[in-house]
Amino acid sequence: MRKHHAVFGTPISHSLSPRIHAAFARQCGIELDYLAIEADAGDFRAKLDDFAAHGGTGANVTLPLKEAAFALCSEASERARRAGAVNTLVRAGDGWHGDNTDGAGLVRDLTGRHMLDLRARRTLLLGAGGAARGIAPALLEAGIGELTIVNRTPERADALADALGEPGRVHPRYLGDLAALGEFDLIVNATSAARGGQLPALPRSLVGRRCAAVDLSYGEAAIPFLAWARANGCHDAVDGLGMLVEQAAESFALWLGTRPETDGVYAELSGRAAALVTAD
Ligand code: NAP
Repeated sequence: MRKHHAVFGTPISHSLSPRIHAAFARQCGIELDYLAIEADAGDFRAKLDDFAAHGGTGANVTLPLKEAAFALCSEASERARRAGAVNTLVRAGDGWHGDNTDGAGLVRDLTGRHMLDLRARRTLLLGAGGAARGIAPALLEAGIGELTIVNRTPERADALADALGEPGRVHPRYLGDLAALGEFDLIVNATSAARGGQLPALPRSLVGRRCAAVDLSYGEAAIPFLAWARANGCHDAVDGLGMLVEQAAESFALWLGTRPETDGVYAELSGRAAALVTAD
């Protein structure tokens, strides 16, 4: 039977998810429609109900709806509860089961594709929005060392640190104090700063000897942070394209019970990375 899936968010027209899921479906011999549906906090619920009424059984949720998606789920996975944010909805009876595949996707990309050993890395997380909430638990589970969280709105960094529940290991700090935080082995940019404004000023003193820099964005939006990383001596500079493909594969497996192979899709998209617009 033909499956009906979609991604909800705004702006959504540049989303790569329909293309990625169509490729997965072809590869697995599954008949699938996958739409990109523009929705904001005001109309998300109504559009999701309409989608379900027309046979929709699986959805991805992106900026700025991940926390709203968590709130409407009738049940949620442990990792979604820990994140307080949902990027994958699976139809369950009359409601939705929520999950969050962002963290697993990021860790799989970093450790599997880019061969980074994350263990014991002193880590700086820039941002405390939906994506940061999704990846922080997975990074901790992957064995990073101390995690420092810095966000433009400090209360959100405090809230994320509290939710992670590891006060000895996770420390919220102020953006203005970056120069006093010492060196890191992993710096993750989980802000959407480059989309509209400017990256926060990042001092060179943050970069440790074996530091890897990761931007969750891809395409043009990843250029400022990755350029800063290369200019300041980071060992590795990784954009969010691989994470995007891996989190999609995790969602696909949750919906359809089969995990697609990801290297072909990643290779095809990364060949055109400079022309891509971050939208997922
Ligand atoms: P979000 O929930 O809207 O959060 C945005 C974050 O960026 C917040 O921490 C916000 O700080 C910060 N921010 C925005 N503008 C800023 C500025 N000018 N200076 C400093 N900080 C700023 O968005 P999200 O869902 O977390 O997404 C964040 C980024 O990750 C987006 O670019 C998204 O496309 C990307 N992402 C990629 C993938 C992937 O698969 N590759 C998956 C998920 C997300 P405040 O709290 O102060 O507003």
